[in-house]
Formats: sequence, C-alpha cells, structure tokens
Amino acid sequence: MLLARLLFKLFIYSSITKAMLPTIALIGRPNVGKSTLFNRLIRQQKALTHDLPGVTRDRIYGVVRQSDVPFALVDTGGLVMDEDQNFEQEIMQQAQEAIAESQVIMLVVDGKNGLNPVDEQVARDLRESHKPVLLVVNKIDGYEKEGNASEFHALGMDMLNVSAAHGHNIPALLDRLNELLEKEGYDAETVKEDDDATGLRLALIGRPNAGKSSICNRMLGEDRMIVSDRAGTTRDSVDVTVEVDKKRYTFVDTAGIRRKSKISENLEHFSVLRSLKASKNAQVAVLVLDAVEGLTMQDKKLVSFLDREKTPLIIIVNKMDLIPKGKVDQLKKYFYDQLRICPHVPKLFTSALSGQNLRHLLPLAQKLWKECQIRVTTGILNRTLKDAITRHQPPIMKHRRAKFYYLTQAGITPPTFVFFVNDPELVRDSYVRYLENQLRKSFGLKMAPMAVHFRGSH
Ligand code: GDP
Ligand code: GDP
Repeated sequence: MLLARLLFKLFIYSSITKAMLPTIALIGRPNVGKSTLFNRLIRQQKALTHDLPGVTRDRIYGVVRQSDVPFALVDTGGLVMDEDQNFEQEIMQQAQEAIAESQVIMLVVDGKNGLNPVDEQVARDLRESHKPVLLVVNKIDGYEKEGNASEFHALGMDMLNVSAAHGHNIPALLDRLNELLEKEGYDAETVKEDDDATGLRLALIGRPNAGKSSICNRMLGEDRMIVSDRAGTTRDSVDVTVEVDKKRYTFVDTAGIRRKSKISENLEHFSVLRSLKASKNAQVAVLVLDAVEGLTMQDKKLVSFLDREKTPLIIIVNKMDLIPKGKVDQLKKYFYDQLRICPHVPKLFTSALSGQNLRHLLPLAQKLWKECQIRVTTGILNRTLKDAITRHQPPIMKHRRAKFYYLTQAGITPPTFVFFVNDPELVRDSYVRYLENQLRKSFGLKMAPMAVHFRGSH
C-alpha cells in the first residue's frame, strides 16, 4: 500500500505535461526598458526590486491576463555589466535559456539610442532559433518622436514601436503577441479554460527543511483527488492541482521545493530567490517556518519584502510537534512578536508529521484570496471616511490640518484605496496607520494586503 502510494507520488512528480500557459520571453540589452515593459504588461507597479542582491540577474516571471490568450511572461532581468565580465556573453546565455522555454520572443531594443551591435548579434541568434520573434522598439514616447527607430528595419524583423514608460502602443503589442500565439496553436478559450482549471494557485515558500515538501505531500493525501500535474511557467517546475471539497488548488513549482541544493553556502540565497519567483507565479504565498529554528534575518527580510510587494500571504509555523506542551504559548508569542510588521497576515501553527491544523490551510487561502478581491461601494467608502475623521481628527502639522475630500477604491488584489486630500504632505504616518486600520475594520479586510494612497486635489 505504502509502496503503491509512493510510486503514485513519484509518478505525479515526474510526469511533466505541456505548460498550461504559453510563455513569452523579453530579451535585450540592459536599460532598453525590459523591466518597465514587464511591469506594464503584468500591470504591477513593481517587479522584484533591487535591494536583494542577485535578484536583477535572475529571470523573473509574471502572468499577463489582459490579453486574449493569457501567457506567462519571463523577463531575463537587468543584466549588470561589470569590468571583468563579458556581458555580451551573459546576455547570450540568458537569451538561450529564455528562448528554450518560450513559444514567442520579444526582442526589446532602445529606440532612442538606435541600433547597437549587440542587438544585431542577438537578432542573428534568434533567427537561428526559428521561434517567432517580435522586435519591440521601446522608448518611442510619442507619435512625433520616432527617434532612431527606423534603423531597426535593418534587422529584417516584424517590429512595433512602443513606449513602455508611457503605455504607448501597448494594446497593439498585446494584439501582435496574441496573433503570434494563435499561430503557434494557442487558442484563447482553451488556454483560459485550462488556466481556470487550476483553481487557486498557492506557492509554498521558505527555507530548506522547514517542511514545505512534507506539507505539500500531506495536502496531496490519499483522500484528495489529484486533478493534474503539468509543467509550470519555469522550465523545470511542476504545478500540481488537487481538488478538495469541490474546489481546485494548484501548488506551483513543487519540483522546486523538492529539489535540494547541495551548495550549503548558497542555500539561503537560493531559497529566497526561489521563494520570490514562486510567489510571483501564485496567487497566495504560503511561507513555511520551522518552529524550532525560529525566525532568521533572511525570513524577516523575505516577509518584509512580500509585505511591501502586497503579496497575499499566509505564514505557517511548522513542526509544532517538536515543541513541548508547556512551551507552546511562549513560542506563539515569540512568533507574533517577531512578525508584528504584518499583523494582518494569518498565522497557522502546524505539524506536517501529525497533520495538526493543516486542514485549515486551504479554506484560509480561499478566504484570503476572496478578501483580496473585495469591492467596496461608494456609499460605504464615504461613510467610512466621514466616521474615521469625526472619531479622530487629523493632527495639525505646520499649523495646518489635512482636509479630506473623498475616498475611492482604485483596484483589487490588493484592495487599493485613494484618499483625496488638500495636501498629502499634511498626513502623518501615524494617521495613515489609523486610517488603514479603520478601512480594515469597516471593510472586513482582516488578512489581505491593502494599499492606501493620498492624492492632492489641486
Ligand atoms: P531593463 O534593464 O531593460 O530592464 O530596463 P529598465 O526597464 O530598467 O529601463 C531602463 C531605463 O529606461 C529606466 O530609466 C526607464 O525609466 C527607462 N525607460 C523604460 N521604458 C521607457 C520608455 O518607454 N521611454 C523612456 N523615455 N524611457 C524608458
Ligand atoms: P522542505 O525542504 O521545506 O521541503 O522540508 P521537508 O518537507 O523536506 O522537511 C525537512 C525535514 O523536516 C524532513 O526530515 C521532514 O521529515 C521533517 N519535518 C517536516 N515537517 C515536520 C513536522 O511537522 N514535524 C517534524 N517533527 N518534522 C518535520
């Protein structure tokens, strides 16, 4: 019986099927605007930012859903040139890897600076790949500013002028990409259906040995139907979909968490990068911590990063079976205390060994995701603003008091609220926190990340 289950699981992890979403790669020299375009396309304000070393050199993944055919987008990263490194070679290597895992390539070039020998070299390489390539001439910030765009005709490629920074021609770009994907046999309806079939996408992240694989295996227990497994958006990752209580969930990148890095000095860094990448591919990130090990600096850094990025997050403190009964309360207090930077993030104290509390994980993720999509009516927004200000007036700053006009909701995932105010400079941090808390209370936002902006109205 045990052997049969083991074999079954092995089968699940080893049979990799076709990727659910087609992949499109962004390649090109540094500073041509790849990250800007990436962010514009995935509609997020920021990609992975640059305060974690190494992040910019790695490939970054996101999902584009504003096109007919949804697709995974891979940014080959802002490659850094330093003196003793041949950066052309590095670009080539990144390009090769991205080409290998993509169905369509965007070669991004700088339309302001004009044609560069490296562009020509990359273009030659791409032609050899026989994959469809769209030449994206970026930094063409207006119809009248064609810059040096015409030089790029020399590359003899299908090309389009855009401005990633200003959004110029982005809809046309999406149309062209769709055409190319359709030519490759991707059909909008099938891809979307397939994408919906994955249900809520979760990423188990955290340091090695915290118990991610054990938790994942528990979730794939015998009473649960495994719907499918397939290649994820990264070349070597496997996503596993399970159905629990008629709802589907997909654990992204399970191959990643199962593979162990043998290079111990790189372990920490490796897992942070993996964590960040996996969380980008998922809707809810589940950070697994080891109850015995406590919280390391690296864990804290990751938490504060995910918090700033407004990633829907659940924190699991695992291996609770190893904590003596008399020490449990103290331990919980320690974790709550260490994690006070993100009081809204739900915490679960579990044991993958006994299964304790793990049954709460999926319903919690479902609830969290629902909160992320909350839409608040204008009536409630206005009432909340009025109540909040009446209850606690904004403090006087530089002899003036902030005057609030109205409140709107600008978006979901994360729920984003904009306060219109006479002068945003007059709103102190403590008052920002007060308002945030009021919104959370009034809208029932207990667990979701939330963004609040202040805009002057003159
Ligand atoms: P990457 O290294 O290729 O990822 O390039 P980035 O996205 O980091 O952009 C490099 C620089 O070009 C940044 O200063 C961007 O603000 C700027 N940039 C990106 N897109 C545009 C654009 O459409 N127009 C202009 N004028 N600048 C842009
Ligand atoms: P990963 O590297 O995060 O995927 O961690 P693993 O799931 O491979 O677990 C690392 C080690 O911790 C293994 O020896 C597991 O058996 C053990 N482990 C995982 N979860 C628990 C738990 O809840 N309690 C105990 N006692 N051991 C656990």
